[in-house]
Amino acid sequence: MRVSRLYTAALLSTGKIIELDEDNGHYVRTVLRLKKDAEIILFNGQGGEYLCTVAEVSRKTVLIAIEQWTDRSVESSLQISLGLGIARGDRMDLVVQKAVELGVNRITPLMTERCVVQFKGEKKPQRLLHWQKIVQHAAEQSGRTILPTLLEVEALHNWVNQQQGLKVFLDPYAKTSLTELKPVSMSVTLLTGPEGGFSSQERDLATAAGFIPVRLGARILRAETASLAALAAVQLLWGDFGQSNN
Ligand code: SAM
Repeated sequence: MRVSRLYTAALLSTGKIIELDEDNGHYVRTVLRLKKDAEIILFNGQGGEYLCTVAEVSRKTVLIAIEQWTDRSVESSLQISLGLGIARGDRMDLVVQKAVELGVNRITPLMTERCVVQFKGEKKPQRLLHWQKIVQHAAEQSGRTILPTLLEVEALHNWVNQQQGLKVFLDPYAKTSLTELKPVSMSVTLLTGPEGGFSSQERDLATAAGFIPVRLGARILRAETASLAALAAVQLLWGDFGQSNN
């Protein structure tokens, strides 16, 4: 039977017994319904993972005994950053989840001129927390031991000037294809627009900052399709989709 994996922000070391936080405790007790001595894997996103056993389950606490560390990694050798024009609710959730499965290393939600979503007051930290949970769950599910970084919401004009590696601006009107490019130091940064795309001023900003406009086929894709298709394409061209498991 597959052993469930749980992300925890706690410090982990072999031989220790830790108490799970409320969310993880609830998950182990009520969703997984694990009993004493059941096996579970914990990881804290810093690399590797720990085989553990449930030491105690009560209505208030779940205690976990940390048994054995395994230095397991499923990271691609290609470093991928994704700057995403913020799309509406569940579309953004889908991209964040699938991007983690596809091996992204950093995600930055970007405010652009045509973003339909505008954050007011408490909304921004709440949204970030919501996406952070999605990152954690996707890492648990996909077997990652390094947690991808979700950065603060940033304005496009600031973000474009801070990026490194091969900088790709996904643009349905571009002439260049990904196959004409090469990553720089095994690092690539992808930029996708929100539902309404980028304004001409934003396109100029991106190209002035060194982003190369790249087209994915002849069709206009939804923002979420474009991000995910580009991630799969760069993993196949330069990352681990092209590697066998021998
Ligand atoms: N009419 C919009 C425009 O003017 O760009 C279309 C926006 S599209 C729904 C949302 C985003 O997905 C675009 O800003 C772009 O980043 C990306 N995109 C969509 N289709 C693409 C394609 N064929 N090649 C590259 N990027 C694409």
